[in-house]
Amino acid sequence: MYDLMIIGSGPAGISAALTAKARNLNFIWFGSRALSTKIEKAEKIMNYPGLPAVTGSEMQSVFLKQIDDCGITITESQVNSIYDCGGYFAAGADNEIYEAKAVIMTVGMTTTREIEGEARLLGCGVSYCATCDGALYKNKDIAVICASPKFEDEVTFLAGLANHIYLFTPYKETTLQYDNITHFNGLPASVDGDKKVASVTFKGEAIPVSGAFFLKDSINPGVLLSGLDMAGGHIIVDRTQMTNIDGVYAAGDCTGRPYQYAKAVGEGNVAVHSVLEYLKEHK
Ligand code: FAD
Repeated sequence: MYDLMIIGSGPAGISAALTAKARNLNFIWFGSRALSTKIEKAEKIMNYPGLPAVTGSEMQSVFLKQIDDCGITITESQVNSIYDCGGYFAAGADNEIYEAKAVIMTVGMTTTREIEGEARLLGCGVSYCATCDGALYKNKDIAVICASPKFEDEVTFLAGLANHIYLFTPYKETTLQYDNITHFNGLPASVDGDKKVASVTFKGEAIPVSGAFFLKDSINPGVLLSGLDMAGGHIIVDRTQMTNIDGVYAAGDCTGRPYQYAKAVGEGNVAVHSVLEYLKEHK
């Protein structure tokens, strides 16, 4: 059981991890060593104190060096679900379950639109994790909604299990050439079914499937942790970064505008200080 789990490796998560380390918390941090595409892709950053006129990749290198120099490990897994277990939290990531007394969500802003039926049928045929749930769809027909070519390895994995894959991508070309994959450029309008996924609707046509995998960078936080209060796509927090769920804090773009590095970093720091107070009261 960890004291804290931090989910997301952008500036908010980095700041939270550095502060948690400085305060000797027993924590686990989920994200990737690429940190965040929103760091990587920035052309020139002019408003971050201490790093005048850096490119995104320069900022990424500086952050990574600081993380490594502090001896902090990033667990390179995507968290697919978080459960409030009453007094502690359990997170599912790559077929493993991790437990912690408190959670800081620094998951950034979801840019991919949620598809109708996606949240309602989560766990009833909708999955965010090929590794965890792929085997359930052995020899079945499934839909895979793949947000970026970087997830195509997971599509390949699913192609080795499923009977047929209907692959939907927002991008035109795919390198995936398998007899059991039909590729569509575009996203389905909905995932349909009463209690279980039965089909996806694309261009007005219902395609029968047993499951639908959504492969994407970020999952709507309200779907990740059921019961989390959201407004306009943002997690509602107070000035201590506390959400409506006791023990759950959020920081960075996921809590609202302005979408800025300095704001994300500040909130990540505040969130850890709030967690320290929370842990004192919940020994
Ligand atoms: P993000 O940086 O979005 O990081 C979130 C991370 O969490 C991502 O790596 C994501 O993969 C990971 N994650 C999400 N869900 C999960 C999960 N379930 N499990 C594990 N990991 C997960 N701001 C400025 O102040 N100045 C600038 O000059 C500037 N330029 C920008 C240029 C560009 C091109 C862009 C796109 C943004 C720019 N911004 C700038 C805004 C800035 O990038 C964001 O405000 C900042 O990155 C937000 O940090 P964050 O930590 O909240 O989220």
